[in-house]
Amino acid sequence: MISIEEVRRLARSKGAVILAHNYQRPEVQDAADYVGDSLGLSIRAMEAEAELIVFAGVDFMAEQAAILNPGKVVLHPDTQSRCPMAAMLTPEVVREYRERYPGAPFVAYVNTLAEVKALADYVVTSSSAVKLVSQLDADTVLFGPDKNLADYVAERTGKEVVPVPSYGHCPVHVVITPSCLERAREEHPQAKLLAHPECLREIRREADFVGSTSQMVRAAAEMGADEYIVATEVGLLHRIEKLGKRAYPASPYAVCVDMKRITLEKVAKCLREGTGVVRVEPKVARRVREVLERSFELMGVEVPWRRS
Ligand code: SF4
Repeated sequence: MISIEEVRRLARSKGAVILAHNYQRPEVQDAADYVGDSLGLSIRAMEAEAELIVFAGVDFMAEQAAILNPGKVVLHPDTQSRCPMAAMLTPEVVREYRERYPGAPFVAYVNTLAEVKALADYVVTSSSAVKLVSQLDADTVLFGPDKNLADYVAERTGKEVVPVPSYGHCPVHVVITPSCLERAREEHPQAKLLAHPECLREIRREADFVGSTSQMVRAAAEMGADEYIVATEVGLLHRIEKLGKRAYPASPYAVCVDMKRITLEKVAKCLREGTGVVRVEPKVARRVREVLERSFELMGVEVPWRRS
């Protein structure tokens, strides 16, 4: 079995940067140059000097890194690592909802494939969704693919947020049920609860903090508690434990099998052989960058690729 150090050495010898999502296996996170959430990692990749990027995450994340880094080569260590929630939203479904709700803007969650993002008016992350939707000059907003995040945005903005499609959900977050949480609370009565907005409403309402994975890590550092129950994919426990905190899963079944497909061996293999090159049609990539630019501008955030 290959070690973390060997993978690090291999990456250095190839002049590559390794990016790992917060839900990756602990050893893959430890081999990475940067660990974080999907958009944050793609922006990190833009700032890195390396021309070769290994993205340890699911398909839409690797695709996004390629879109934001057109002059660099992005390798995906396992091209079968695909997000089932992103697959629930196709361009046809977007077009169907646009016809049903003429004039309503379509906001795509970053967890979508490029061909869907290219059709969106705006793209948001779980940390920017509430802010962006509240700034839209529209009372009805189409939002996909996660109906739980759509519900959270509706709660927080008071707008009609139509989930596109009506059944879109992350299969990992929905296994965190009230009864699982009750058990975790009984076992760890002193722990604070951190929840991701992809969780069911019953879970979010119990939480001491609701936010994206990076915001959850920051909250764990800042809230001052020693123990946390974590209502998201179990990979985030590793990041919180690295802060010197105790972290417990809200459900031990909240495991994303697609994220876990990527192993150290697969990272090493793609580095050695240059396999898993991510390609996005240039027209689609250009359109996605335009949608992202518009989204950053609406939120008053500097467009990362325009920084001097
Ligand atoms: S945790 Fe959910 S949203 Fe994230 S990659 Fe896995 S299935 Fe997709």
